Amino acid sequence: MSIEIQTGRQPSPQLRVGLIGDPVGHSFSPRFQQPAFDALGIPARYELWHTPAKQLIERIRSLCEPDCLGANVTIPHKEAVLPLLDKIDPLATRIGAVNTIVHHDDYLYGYNTDAMGLLHALHEQGLGTKEQNKISLRGYNALLLGAGGAARAAAFALVDAGVEQLIILNRHLERAQHLATDIQQHYDRPVFSLNDPSFLIPRASSLIINATSVGLHEDISPLPAKILAHYDPDTFVYDMIYNPTQTYLLCQARLMNFRTANGLSMLLHQGAQSFSLWTNQPAPIEIMRRSLM
Ligand code: NDP
Repeated sequence: MSIEIQTGRQPSPQLRVGLIGDPVGHSFSPRFQQPAFDALGIPARYELWHTPAKQLIERIRSLCEPDCLGANVTIPHKEAVLPLLDKIDPLATRIGAVNTIVHHDDYLYGYNTDAMGLLHALHEQGLGTKEQNKISLRGYNALLLGAGGAARAAAFALVDAGVEQLIILNRHLERAQHLATDIQQHYDRPVFSLNDPSFLIPRASSLIINATSVGLHEDISPLPAKILAHYDPDTFVYDMIYNPTQTYLLCQARLMNFRTANGLSMLLHQGAQSFSLWTNQPAPIEIMRRSLM
């Protein structure tokens, strides 16, 4: 799909794209999506579409209106939208969650850009290598905290990027086991599931990713400090939470001199990929970054 930009005296048709979720008021997406549309002269408005579950079908139907480019999807609808769409990208099917919907020729297509967003965010921090436009994390051992929607995207992204070993640590063990089983249906990589951090054996070149919501509202960490302290100095700790910008986990990791980053860079890169899918144009990433950071 490409957006035709009107020139001359003809008024440009106003296009719409928005965020579907419940709640949506806290979202940072309009902050960096709107400046991107404006910078490229695309007459689109990025809106917040608060959608309780009982209005989801109606909301998805409204995306087929001619002025609608598509949508982002957030909590709690990332999984529920799958059966409501016409075609789902294979990666989003494996992950089981869609965060980007594209409206094209009366059809609705579902994608998951969280996965690539995470890999680009890690690569930007100097992790891994880029081989033929694909980010490789070969040589890293990943510890993933969480097994919810964001963790599922991260787990597939990490294994697809070639991590040596993936350990999924989650409060409810069955959810971690379920995710590990799903991954092993597609990839021949060692994936382990745990719910007790005291069984962790730290390894060199570790990458620790928090994909739980622990730390979002309170000063608590999803990984006890005494466990974190056993990791090698070259460990990188990434927290998907971006508000607060410094979670308790990140503060502890910094005190231990580990390299760290918060989830703003993932938010930026997943949003940039969504923008490209809606417009079929490269996202103005530096404009988006300046608007967000
Ligand atoms: P989900 O609700 O799907 O998953 C929540 C996860 O947190 C589960 O693993 C859950 O464990 C765990 N959890 C929740 N409360 C506790 C607790 N008290 N103790 C231990 N574990 C707990 O949420 P998402 O996966 O969608 O989001 C997770 C986080 O990632 C959020 O903070 C979100 O803001 C962030 N995120 C950031 C993005 C970015 O671009 N930076 C993109 C997407 C998400 P259990 O399974 O045991 O319940």
